[in-house]
Amino acid sequence: MSGFIERENPALFSEIVGSVAAASPEAVDKVVRWADAEQRIWATRPLPDRLVALTRASAAIENAIEDLAELLARESGKVLGDCRGEIGFAVRYLRWVVEHATMAYADREVDDELGRIVEQRRPFGVVAAITPWNAPIILSMLKIAPALAAGNAIVVKPSPLAPLTIDRIAGLFDAPIRVVHGGTETGAALVGHELVRKVAFTGGAAGGRAVAALAGDRLTPTVMELGGNDPAVFLDDAPFAGDAMDRLVMASFATSGQVCMAAKRLYVPLARLDEFVSAYRSAAGRVLKTGHPLSAGVTMGPVISAAAQRAARALIPPDAVLLGAFDADPSTGYFVHPALVVAPDPSSPVVVEEQFAPVVPVLGYESEEQVLTWANAGDLGLGASVWSADEERAFAFARRFEAGFTFVNTHNRTGMSLRAPFGGVKRSGWGREYAGEGLAEYVQTCVIHAPAAFRPGAVAPSGGPSAYPPG
Ligand code: NAD
Repeated sequence: MSGFIERENPALFSEIVGSVAAASPEAVDKVVRWADAEQRIWATRPLPDRLVALTRASAAIENAIEDLAELLARESGKVLGDCRGEIGFAVRYLRWVVEHATMAYADREVDDELGRIVEQRRPFGVVAAITPWNAPIILSMLKIAPALAAGNAIVVKPSPLAPLTIDRIAGLFDAPIRVVHGGTETGAALVGHELVRKVAFTGGAAGGRAVAALAGDRLTPTVMELGGNDPAVFLDDAPFAGDAMDRLVMASFATSGQVCMAAKRLYVPLARLDEFVSAYRSAAGRVLKTGHPLSAGVTMGPVISAAAQRAARALIPPDAVLLGAFDADPSTGYFVHPALVVAPDPSSPVVVEEQFAPVVPVLGYESEEQVLTWANAGDLGLGASVWSADEERAFAFARRFEAGFTFVNTHNRTGMSLRAPFGGVKRSGWGREYAGEGLAEYVQTCVIHAPAAFRPGAVAPSGGPSAYPPG
């Protein structure tokens, strides 16, 4: 990819929202060398100074939030309220990092009868962040904020499907951060660069495999946040109450179902399947309105591209239950009428693959053992949820999910917390974002140790130079 990347509006694809220059491998090399030089200066600045710069950036982003949210809505097709929410959440996360960085990145020192040990939390150097289009601001900020706070420089390569808003946001930092634009060639030039010391990737399996292989070839450490096929399991005592159903519907259809941790498979007791479908349809009637992302009252916009629209339609059988109000023209924007697929074959693609589309299957189960087997089947293990009137029962069930993050009586965004680490098990990735573990991804522990026996003035032990220390 070279020249310019033009970004169309998925809600009205005749409109070009903006364009960015694509970075050739030579341009990427220049940027990484710049970042490497700047990082050495940035890392010598005291942590409080770096945090002041990040606080200023958080204020600048907040001041521009209305313009940024509209730009994000136009380039991604996400509804305006979601875009505002995503950018606001990114600002909150940036401030959370500022609040917690001092503790997380401070040296730890012990000095006692066994000796003196200083543990330093040192930055890696240049971090490469490769991010997807579905939540381009928060998913970039989860890397930018801790990387910069810890003293790294960062080069972000966003998806060519949502390059504009993150480009503007990066420009609001007075810190060593740059954005390079392009597709796989640009991403590969960045990940494979000799001066990149850590790679943070969020995206799908194919891209993840390629990026992990490139990084592995250079022995560059990675944090990988990959796809999911989250099950939502209703235990037999779960009420299908209005507010819970409203949350569940949006857990599957926010961002047109294009969220890694969307509720992607619904499981309810077989005896209550009809009752569930009826409650779910009513909820969708209340909370789901598909239309133009900038129009008031719309809760679901288009999908991201023509390919995504085709793929979504292929997953929706003729007998699917169409949900909510639909006020959009699928011939001028990539709109798809959201759908519930009732009792499909458990081995059908809409069940066993990550659909990443506004269509969700619901299946009836006969026993908890059966539903656990279904829920834990497959290679993915990002999120899951369990719904019950009895919290103890829900937590006991949750312990048996093969998932990195289990929600109780909710799913997706409404269940996130800045203080809870997020990431996948199995082939949904490794490493964590958010919370202390998310901060720890951007430092390496380096130790300085003076054993007691060899400190100035000490009496050397009798075991000789090759003996193990006493403690
Ligand atoms: P994608 O893998 O196609 O692209 C992600 C990024 O990787 C983009 O910037 C892309 O240009 C780049 N890329 C892709 N192939 C590459 C290669 N060979 N070399 C270098 N760079 C490459 O993913 P997407 O379609 O943008 O996003 C959807 C996927 O992301 C879904 O599977 C979703 O579940 C996953 N996702 C995961 C999380 C999480 O936190 N676990 C969050 C959001 C999205």
